[in-house]
Amino acid sequence: TAKKSASDPFCVYAPEIQKEHQNRQDIERDLREALARGEFELHFQPFVDVKRGCVSGFEALVRWNSPTRGRVSPGVFIPIMEETGLIVPLGLFVLRDACRQAAHWPEGLTLSINLSPRQFEGGDIVADVRQSLAETRLDPKRLQLEVTESLFLSDGDRVLTVLNALRGLGVAMSMDDFGTGYSSLGYLSRFPFDKIKIDQSFVRDLDRKENMAIVRAVLGLGASMKLAVIAEGVETAEQMRVLQEEGCDEMQGYLFSRPRPAGDLPKMLVDIKEGFQQGRFGREVNV
Ligand code: C2E
Ligand code: MG
Ligand code: MG
Ligand code: MG
Repeated sequence: TAKKSASDPFCVYAPEIQKEHQNRQDIERDLREALARGEFELHFQPFVDVKRGCVSGFEALVRWNSPTRGRVSPGVFIPIMEETGLIVPLGLFVLRDACRQAAHWPEGLTLSINLSPRQFEGGDIVADVRQSLAETRLDPKRLQLEVTESLFLSDGDRVLTVLNALRGLGVAMSMDDFGTGYSSLGYLSRFPFDKIKIDQSFVRDLDRKENMAIVRAVLGLGASMKLAVIAEGVETAEQMRVLQEEGCDEMQGYLFSRPRPAGDLPKMLVDIKEGFQQGRFGREVNV
């Protein structure tokens, strides 16, 4: 939106807006350099099986440690990388690095990776995934790929073809942030998914009966469509209790752990197991 400059009545854009534009160009340039310099790093947040009282896998979440800007939130830089297309090389780094690391994890732990719609456009995401699996020898059954509904705003037929090809490699497809888009249900019926991630906005406030109703409906949907369901953003023992009562057995959230650097993986496995043993999540499990 163009604001009239106070200092110069003949200028369309106020100085603040030019500055915003400059900032945006600066951050874009920094992001390009960051890719070349390898300033991106993966953190991992556990998926927890509350029935068994243990970690079932980890989601890779990218972090940018900028020497000049410090820690920048993905909420800030991912949208810019999506707009500029830089998400494509970043996504490839995430895929390769995450698979390389997960290949050394204890067997049975899954790896989940976020894919951007841009990664489905140019290039060949199917070839990239196939190659990463082959190079790292990660069992395809252990890889889950998360996409959001924004993927389906582009050519649906093409997306369907690519999703089927990805599943053909033996990997699982998850629908991230489920329920926040416009026609989640329609997409579920048209596209092949293995897992639904209930968005944290519904989990955050389960006291609101509307949110509770949505969570219940999604769990019912998962059961009848034979899709796994995981709840995102579980922060309290009370949320965990309610979700489990409703039949949700897989969860992710700060209650169990924040996303942590790869070196903390063994510690997360032990801490969460002990957390269950000690009833730290509100319920004791014998493990
Ligand atoms: P997402 O995939 O839905 O990831 C979940 C986000 O929620 C993460 O934020 C995570 O740190 C945060 N979170 C997890 N548990 C809790 C909780 O209990 N409470 C609250 N308040 N938040 C929680 P993060 O790491 O900042 O990532 C934000 C978004 O950026 C991700 O949402 C994803 O859409 C995107 N993103 C992150 N890494 C990648 C990546 O490698 N590739 C792509 N394409 N997108 C990524
Ligand atoms: Mg995700
Ligand atoms: Mg999500
Ligand atoms: Mg999200």
